[in-house]
Amino acid sequence: MQLELKCKKCDEAFSADFAELTADPELRCPGCDARATEEQVEALTGAMEDLFAAVASLRRKFTITGDLDGDDLPPPYDEAPAAKRGKAALLEDEDDEEDEDEDEE
Ligand SMILES: [Zn+2]
Repeated sequence: MQLELKCKKCDEAFSADFAELTADPELRCPGCDARATEEQVEALTGAMEDLFAAVASLRRKFTITGDLDGDDLPPPYDEAPAAKRGKAALLEDEDDEEDEDEDEE
């Protein structure tokens, strides 16, 4: 399964293979070398595994399709932490999936 990514720093579009990310949690922009931390990648792949398990159990009855757009997340994840924009932009994208924002609300 391929994840489509776009670097916010240099605009480079690239993809990452889910299985490879799980085995080696390194996410790096091929254009400018911006990268996500290992923790962020592991949080993402871990969350996706949970999602896959849930979808698999539902699959007998329903097919689920949908797009994941890091810039179009449902509340309370829809508000991007402004302070993080810029330098750590790539990080922020996947980051919204999992930690930080969660405890607020
Ligand atoms: Zn880049």
